[in-house]
Amino acid sequence: MQSGSKILKFDVDKLRSQFPILTQKINGKPLVYFDNAATSQKPLSVLEKVYEYYTTINSNVHRGIHTLSEKATIEFETAREKSRKFLNAISIEEIIFTKGVTDGINLVAFSFGEKYINAGDEIVISEMEHHSNIVPWQMLCERKNAKLKVIPVNEKGELIIDEYKNLLSEKVKIVAVTHVSNSLGTINPVKEIIEIAHSRNIPVLLDGAQAAPHLKIDVQELDVDFYVISSHKFYGPTGSGVLYGKEKFLESMPPYQGGGEMIKSVSFSKTLYNELPYKFEAGTPNIAGAIGMGSAIDFIENLGYENISTYENELLHYATDKLNEIDGMRIIGTAKHKASVVSFIINGIHPYDTGSILDQLGIAVRTGYHCTQPLIDFYKLPGTVRASFAVYNTFEEIDRLIEGIHKVKKMIG
Ligand code: PLP
Repeated sequence: MQSGSKILKFDVDKLRSQFPILTQKINGKPLVYFDNAATSQKPLSVLEKVYEYYTTINSNVHRGIHTLSEKATIEFETAREKSRKFLNAISIEEIIFTKGVTDGINLVAFSFGEKYINAGDEIVISEMEHHSNIVPWQMLCERKNAKLKVIPVNEKGELIIDEYKNLLSEKVKIVAVTHVSNSLGTINPVKEIIEIAHSRNIPVLLDGAQAAPHLKIDVQELDVDFYVISSHKFYGPTGSGVLYGKEKFLESMPPYQGGGEMIKSVSFSKTLYNELPYKFEAGTPNIAGAIGMGSAIDFIENLGYENISTYENELLHYATDKLNEIDGMRIIGTAKHKASVVSFIINGIHPYDTGSILDQLGIAVRTGYHCTQPLIDFYKLPGTVRASFAVYNTFEEIDRLIEGIHKVKKMIG
């Protein structure tokens, strides 16, 4: 039985034609790509923009007075302005180009850590964090002899807010949590989390890796202090992303890395650092990546977040209902508010076996810990199978997944 979308404001077939990679066969079967939380596919508009950059204006930014360098600089800085608008930051000084979320969190953990974390201080994260929002803080704790505190989750995969409140002692200097869980799809109550932290004068970093593909982000409305995104999760190239930071923090924090671009003047006796945002952008940046990310932002804005999330919610609910009809199915992560990610296990079948057989059927899902080992340990599981949906996925593809799972059960169950 196929159910069509009742609300679709765009034509999915037309949209899919912008993603040539989706038309191929994998293991002789039409590809079903459900590994979007790991990385999304890229539309032609993004690929063409990157191609155009390399074939017409490739040169280094900010340095040359020649025409190509000026054109590249304009495109690069246009991408920064698009990123500013995308996140609704006040100024471009608050928009630092990074390699992605991991890079952005490491930057804050190092630089904020240098300035504000001392022995005995505490850093609060949550049990559902991606390793990239755990390990940089652990490294900081080791360097500074500080302590990591962890907000627990309940069985549904929601943060326990009362426990969070209890953790916020005077020693806590920063809270760093994910906006949306990559493993479970949980959308966290980040506004509430920020308000609670701010009422105790504690700044908050949000990991927006899994939010940016699905939800409109407004850093001013959230009043968040740091927000990090990765372009490749929202239809842009790999190796590019943004760290948003409130200017008052970025101004006060020391540079993360030294080199070209981040300096105003250098001598052996004294080096003067550049202004924001360049103070945090040492070396030649990923120019094509930033420009491609700007094009991915255009792609999302042309579709509109309301359309994206309404359609993806339909996919999520359709998939959840169909999966729940399967005997022995257990969905991991049943939070009230979820993005289009569904994690599951089938009784008695290792997630790796499920993933391998689905791959033989042309269906790409993720299996394992999803870089959230402590969270999967909480569920006492060897891993899960994760299907994550993007705006180009269809109800027919979900039917293929369901058929595939029935085959897996027949073969191993
Ligand atoms: N945080 C979350 C929630 C993620 O899903 C990911 C990627 O899977 C990351 C951080 C790391 O992102 P990146 O690998 O782009 O740095």
